[in-house]
Amino acid sequence: MTGMWDWHDAQGLSRVINVSGTMTGLGASVTAAPVQQAVAAAMGRFVKMHELQASASEVIARLTGAEAGFMTASASAGVSLSLAGCMTGLNPGAAEALPRDPGQTPNVVVQMGHLCGYGAPISQAVELTGGAVRSIGQSTLCTDYALEAALDETVAAALYVVSHHVVHYGQIPLRRFAEICHARGVPVVVDAASEYDLRGFLAAGADIVIYSGHKFLGGPTSGIVAGRRDLVRAGYLQNIGIGRGMKIGKESIAGAIAALEAWETRDHDGIRARERAALDLWTGALAGIDGVAARIVPDPTGNPLDRLEVHVDAARLGAGAGSVAGLLASRDPAIIVRDHEVELGYFQLDPCNLLPGQAEIVAEALVTALSDKAGLAQAAPVDARNGGVAGYLNWGAV
Ligand SMILES: *Cc1c(COP(=O)(O)O)cnc(C)c1O
Repeated sequence: MTGMWDWHDAQGLSRVINVSGTMTGLGASVTAAPVQQAVAAAMGRFVKMHELQASASEVIARLTGAEAGFMTASASAGVSLSLAGCMTGLNPGAAEALPRDPGQTPNVVVQMGHLCGYGAPISQAVELTGGAVRSIGQSTLCTDYALEAALDETVAAALYVVSHHVVHYGQIPLRRFAEICHARGVPVVVDAASEYDLRGFLAAGADIVIYSGHKFLGGPTSGIVAGRRDLVRAGYLQNIGIGRGMKIGKESIAGAIAALEAWETRDHDGIRARERAALDLWTGALAGIDGVAARIVPDPTGNPLDRLEVHVDAARLGAGAGSVAGLLASRDPAIIVRDHEVELGYFQLDPCNLLPGQAEIVAEALVTALSDKAGLAQAAPVDARNGGVAGYLNWGAV
């Protein structure tokens, strides 16, 4: 590659350093050279798409332990198509009737604490099928008997979400959830879009598990569906219906296959060591800055990834965590921190998407921004709760 910012400069785009995570709003992830080569090779050729999806199925099966798998536009699409498949089976007429007629099993059971948003409400990924969410329990408590009572003959599937977005206590563990569902003959679909563990959820009883190709895997934008062969086939069939608007291209399938293959041989220890070095560099840079306290925190769902949590004492610094995040984002290059919980007085620095040389730029920017009293006072604080929608509402305005 040439200079770090040549492409941004040529396109007239803001230079961005991502210490936020694999965020859709920042282009999700960057892909390694073998993935880029696989995408480029596919772009220049025709292929029988069912064959390409069959190759994807083999690789998905090898990495996950599933019987089969397919790829679609995104994990969100994977959720919709998997649930639609649970409703229609291998009946093409039923697949074409969605979402108008979800048939005899329109209901999808979900614990209330799992009804999260990931940039869009997961309930909507269910409802795109024409089916309905049957929410069980309360946000912070779901009992076994609430699940048992919900599983009647109108239920197509039960959806289980593994994510930092969901409530982390009072929920039924996956293994128990699957036991209860299987006793009633109901399949379990797991949304594990952002989880590194490619085998554990199927091993714990999931019938289908869904991953994003463009998050930790570092593939092109894609969704990976893995699981029981009959349900995978029924989900794939939805491409004649609601799946058409969720189409994945040959280039993304080829790239996601390459990303899965690269995952098998990735130097996970080396990557962890590099991420740790960035966290240590930033910890050192922040030491001694008045009004700021940093600590390394583990990923909330157990992914092998630590982040630096930077607590801001607004009274001593004269600006809150939201203003610090806002000032960092207004720099050139823009430094985008993980700001979901900024209202609680901290932001996080996620090292998993750093490109070479960027950890040092971030360290220097932290020191400069935190000692810039005037800049902090004027910075527009990030609005973590409503921030996402403003970008959509303002876009295209004259
Ligand atoms: C990111 C995410 C999604 C959406 O993934 P896409 O591949 O971007 O559609 C769905 N569920 C969870 C839990 C996520 O973290």
